[in-house]
Amino acid sequence: MPEKTLFSKVIDKEIPAAILFEDDLCVAFKDIHPQAPAHFLVVPRKPIARLSEASSADHAVLGHLMLKAAQVAKEQGLDDFRVVINNGEGAGQTVFHLHLHVLGGRSFHWPPG
Ligand code: 5GP
Repeated sequence: MPEKTLFSKVIDKEIPAAILFEDDLCVAFKDIHPQAPAHFLVVPRKPIARLSEASSADHAVLGHLMLKAAQVAKEQGLDDFRVVINNGEGAGQTVFHLHLHVLGGRSFHWPPG
């Protein structure tokens, strides 16, 4: 059995987190080190390591993550928000279980740093 990812432990409630939403495909919870007044993660229950390792079999779950990101953002009172996926260490990924960052409650620069 491969070792559980950090986020699988959050999903399985072995590590506490402020969960905002969950269903059979994904869990959304607040980031422990928020980079904006609102910052939550949307994580598939399936431990896909990173976006570039997703396959066509993950088509539905990837769409689901986007829709749930927008739904939870709305529930959190966010009109404007940024969605970020860091893919790989060089792009800032530190937890190798795919996740969407959803950030809001402040203005953002473009291009991102
Ligand atoms: P990445 O750098 O991989 O794109 O994002 C990982 C995110 O997970 C970071 O924003 C980090 O603050 C968050 N994080 C790391 N460990 C935990 C944890 O135990 N609980 C929660 N809620 N967030 C975490």
